[in-house]
Amino acid sequence: MRVVINLNRCQGYAQCCFLAPESFKLIGDEALLYNPAPDDSMREKIERAAAACPVQAIAFDSANGYRHSTTQQEAAHGHQA
Ligand code: SF4
Repeated sequence: MRVVINLNRCQGYAQCCFLAPESFKLIGDEALLYNPAPDDSMREKIERAAAACPVQAIAFDSANGYRHSTTQQEAAHGHQA
């Protein structure tokens, strides 16, 4: 699978590092290292990490291509034009 983190959004909260330490590592206070192509077996952990990120900085591929994790509000209201 493929993972992209919007490092402009990332605030170094490290939720992802706790939930998927194999893929995300915080170096110092704010430098985040991550594996952009983790094994598919990591998908569940990556999904949990993306859902837990307070600023929705983690995107990963799904059957429909890349998607960003959505806030609960976005999920409730959908993406209407
Ligand atoms: S949980 Fe989100 S904000 Fe925190 S380090 Fe990970 S990507 Fe960055």
